[in-house]
Amino acid sequence: SHDKQVALVTGGNRGIGYELVKQLALNGFKVILASRDPGMGNEAVQKLKELNLDVSCVKLDVANQESIHQAAVAINEKYGRVDVLINNAGVYLDENEKLLVMDPCILEKTMATNFFGVYHVIRSFIPLMEKHGFGRIINVSSEYGEMSEMSYPGVGAYKLSKFALNGLTRLVAAEIKEDIKINAVDPGWVSSDMGGPSAPRTPKQAAESILWLATIGPEGPSGGFFKDGKQIPW
Ligand code: NDP
Repeated sequence: SHDKQVALVTGGNRGIGYELVKQLALNGFKVILASRDPGMGNEAVQKLKELNLDVSCVKLDVANQESIHQAAVAINEKYGRVDVLINNAGVYLDENEKLLVMDPCILEKTMATNFFGVYHVIRSFIPLMEKHGFGRIINVSSEYGEMSEMSYPGVGAYKLSKFALNGLTRLVAAEIKEDIKINAVDPGWVSSDMGGPSAPRTPKQAAESILWLATIGPEGPSGGFFKDGKQIPW
């Protein structure tokens, strides 16, 4: 069909997510910018519309199952499909304390967004892919999620959330049928509110290093973990 593919990016109002929205739109996707704050979502969409990009926004707080459900219903009614889902929304709440010392709320909040948020978003949106037997899911993970790399003291909650996200990526890949692919990706160290100003990569470069996974064909990978187009260890 001549219909544009529909892409959804969580946490699309700023940082890497905003650049992903922009670049997907520049590459011909109809993009839904998901933001937990509708005001910030609208502001971001207005900026992109000034560039003549095909972008709209939806309110979606990944830490709130009702919000996820409402977004899925609204998108199903308006578009009837999602072809590309980028789980980008994430938080980094660690304060340099060990897992066994930190306020457990830090771990719970981190997992609620970075892990359970992605889990519930996938569950709610995969039916919109299964309807037409096609989908590309990209989970924005981190090198901190590498199980084999244990020398990151003080980032335990974030690291554990990305371990779990990587595990989810593999297990879901094995469950999915039809032409639906799910992969995890490390964007590198990126200058954003999370990455800080001294990070060597721009959000634009990070988005560019991720975008190829949105357009892989039926022979493309699933259940993998990538950085800059290359498979990296779990
Ligand atoms: P930012 O802090 O700049 O942006 C985070 C985005 O996630 C914001 O849009 C934020 O929304 C959104 N978000 C947070 N919690 C929720 C929620 N509950 N529901 C919906 N949206 C939410 O981070 P980055 O752009 O740097 O990070 C994007 C992703 O890349 C994250 O998953 C991060 O872990 C990952 N990453 C980043 C690295 C880096 O160096 N920056 C390195 C490796 C991975 P709001 O504006 O409302 O707060």
